[in-house]
Amino acid sequence: MNIENMTTILNKIKEFNRIILFRHFRPDGDAVGSTKGLKRILELTYPEKEIYLQNTDYAEYVKFLGEEDEPIADELYADALGIVIDTATKERISNKKFSLCKEVVKIDHHIPIQSYGAYEWVEEERSSACEMIAAFYDTFKSELKIDAEAATYIYAGMVTDSGRFRFRSVSGETMRLAGMLLDVGIDTDTLYANLYIKEFKNFKFESYVYRKMKITDNGVAYIYVDRAMQKKFNLSLEDASASVSYLDSIKDSLIWLAFIDTDDGIRVRLRSRFVSVNTLAEKYGGGGHACACGATVHSKKEMKQLISDADELLGKYKSENEGWL
Ligand code: AMP
Repeated sequence: MNIENMTTILNKIKEFNRIILFRHFRPDGDAVGSTKGLKRILELTYPEKEIYLQNTDYAEYVKFLGEEDEPIADELYADALGIVIDTATKERISNKKFSLCKEVVKIDHHIPIQSYGAYEWVEEERSSACEMIAAFYDTFKSELKIDAEAATYIYAGMVTDSGRFRFRSVSGETMRLAGMLLDVGIDTDTLYANLYIKEFKNFKFESYVYRKMKITDNGVAYIYVDRAMQKKFNLSLEDASASVSYLDSIKDSLIWLAFIDTDDGIRVRLRSRFVSVNTLAEKYGGGGHACACGATVHSKKEMKQLISDADELLGKYKSENEGWL
């Protein structure tokens, strides 16, 4: 825990009358939950301040957490404090106007590959950015306020980013903070129903992925969701991207990849257990966490190269390590 950085951020929040919250594009539950959760805490604690969420896109699967604020005038950024959460690099911030803010704070749990902002609080061992927001609240709870709405946003991000509290980044502290949020009062029935219930077509797509998935000699499982597949099942980019999680429990397949054809290239989602894939993602201009990364490739040739690199990495890992499954 980094009390010094947290205190600096709290002091900055106190100093500014206007605060604008930002996150990464193609947001996930953690990016949405952490920004909405901190916004709600700040609104409850400082009703006299103006607090805005200004982002350019949204995630369908966490739409139940609510909408964004209407866009505000550009002039309002100039004397605002910008707080960017869950975003490793400047390029990934969804709203480029963050740079108009007077000062910028970065709060993140990704492996740091780039610094931005005058103040940073980065803890890569945290299971989610939401866990950091929960810790922030917990540290200053004598002066900050929370309610069930804020707790639900934050808890939703903790649940989704930790694979339902399954990943090795989950610590005793994660569970203590989650417990603190549950005590505030969260309707977990509704939350989990929103997270798990899928449309019929998504199950049909899932079964198709199992028919089409491939595996390399050393055990890298992968699926390429091309345009034809997206059309066949009437998939949004988000639906197509979900395919990576369908491959997550194949024995001996410690690395699994989903390639999604998009207008901006082939989006790659890299996932693993035991073995780290962040260096591989970084080789292709991406990044993320040790076992969950993203990148983009621009041709089938590059896609094949990445698969072959992943295969080599897994072969090396298996020959040098024991105890994996
Ligand atoms: P995704 O597969 O898009 O969910 O990404 C997995 C993790 O890696 C998330 O925490 C993302 O924020 C992060 N990530 C995805 N793409 C990139 C990228 N191009 N550069 C850095 N981090 C990324």
